[in-house]
Amino acid sequence: MATLDIIDLHASVITPEGPKPILHGVNLHIGDNEIHAIMGPNGSGKSTTAYALAGHPSYEITSGQVLLDGVDITDMTADERAREGLFLAMQYPVEVPGVSVSNFLRTAKTAIDGEAPKLREWSQALRKVTEKLRVDADFIKRDLNVGFSGGEKKRTEVLQMELLEPKIAVLDETDSGLDVDALRVVSEGIVDVHERTGNSLLLITHYNRILQYVKPDYVHVFAGGKIVRTGGPDLASELEASGYDSYIEAEAK
Ligand code: ADP
Ligand code: MG
Ligand code: MG
Repeated sequence: MATLDIIDLHASVITPEGPKPILHGVNLHIGDNEIHAIMGPNGSGKSTTAYALAGHPSYEITSGQVLLDGVDITDMTADERAREGLFLAMQYPVEVPGVSVSNFLRTAKTAIDGEAPKLREWSQALRKVTEKLRVDADFIKRDLNVGFSGGEKKRTEVLQMELLEPKIAVLDETDSGLDVDALRVVSEGIVDVHERTGNSLLLITHYNRILQYVKPDYVHVFAGGKIVRTGGPDLASELEASGYDSYIEAEAK
């Protein structure tokens, strides 16, 4: 159980030409055990929000605050935030040659818990989640994300979440590029962790279809570097039908 407060967040992406402001005052309160969805046009700053929350070194928070369970994590490093219980499933997971999936998972678990998991329990947990996510035993011996299909990368993100059990998980387009079967498996994994651990979820998506499985309490429209509208689950279907044009126009004024 945990809460996340994003308070008037302004952030820039660091580019070779210098910092480029992208977020212009994001405000969001996520309560215990809540599911929030963010939808919005390409380039509006959704992934930037995810990276800024996770403490990615290429992004700079220029003002505002992020509180996890009331603890100010704004100036923490990415690994400190992870130890506080924050998890980011990236839109484009990074390939790590030379590090196997299973090694990576065990290293991450050890770093977050502060001690290595017991071998026997760890093997059991690993077997359980790989079966559930329908990945075979050889899969976790492969180098992390190297040559993985889009679907395999997304499954690996959910595998991490299953084993790390974060208090707050930010899932950036974890549903993109999945066929219907993979979408169901991934969605069921997300719901399973949510129900088992009582975590809170921030789901960034373009599609209502994942929200049929992972049912949001709130849906937010993101445009021009901030949240411009908040509604209930029905807002997702409305957005899918009407698009974002009216929001983009409003932001351009
Ligand atoms: P979304 O996830 O909503 O599609 P992003 O957060 O990825 O949007 O991007 C927001 C804006 O930041 C876009 O205009 C994008 O081009 C810009 N941006 C992101 N990363 C970089 C970068 N490394 N260099 C320059 N501009 C960037
Ligand atoms: Mg719930
Ligand atoms: Mg994005």
